[in-house]
Amino acid sequence: MKRFHLMQVPAGWEDRPCLGTDLELWFGASDDTPPHLQESTGDKRRRESVAKALCAGCPFVVQCLENELEHGIGGQWGVRGGMTAEERQDLIRNRRRQAAAVADVEVA
Ligand code: SF4
Repeated sequence: MKRFHLMQVPAGWEDRPCLGTDLELWFGASDDTPPHLQESTGDKRRRESVAKALCAGCPFVVQCLENELEHGIGGQWGVRGGMTAEERQDLIRNRRRQAAAVADVEVA
């Protein structure tokens, strides 16, 4: 089982833009939100755009993304490191494909 690890805390981490913001901005409504209050696809995109804009101004965006890719739980939830969960999952798949292609070339 993959464990969750926190990255080394860089100087200035306490000033990251996401700190103190509403978790719903980053992760959407909780799973127990009644269906009639669930966000629409458009609302989700707008919410994620706002979160990603905050990440774009964050000095830790690269570290945050790499930490999430390395230690997150499969890139499954929320906006982290300037990417949505779906974007991170695509990136993880692409990196695995690239690694496999490099391994194939090295074997051949
Ligand atoms: S990049 Fe990471 S630390 Fe920075 S605002 Fe986004 S989620 Fe927060």
